[in-house]
Amino acid sequence: MSKTNIEYPMPGNDRDLYSGLIRLHVLHHAVREPIFGLGMADELARHGYRISPGTLYPLLHGLEKRGYLRSTAVQNGKSRRKVYRATAAGRKALQLAKSKVRELFRELIEGK
Ligand SMILES: [Zn+2]
Repeated sequence: MSKTNIEYPMPGNDRDLYSGLIRLHVLHHAVREPIFGLGMADELARHGYRISPGTLYPLLHGLEKRGYLRSTAVQNGKSRRKVYRATAAGRKALQLAKSKVRELFRELIEGK
């Protein structure tokens, strides 16, 4: 997987359409393990979501502001990085979202 700092436009400029999916994806990983911006950008790129730091960092801040994530500053060599974990509210929100995703999946993919 390549790692660059260039701006990644979403396919067809449909970023608004995917923003909720990206948030759920971020939340999913933050429930499983501590996440940080660049690592999450790589993970999203692996799934075909090309998201620039200028988009991802405000997204992470927004999730923290809403109480879904909590950040701590971690020393990483000479630099400090922000590490995010899901809060109890974030876990609960993801749990509720899962049933919505399941329902949407049934209709979109399985045609039910
Ligand atoms: Zn993932």
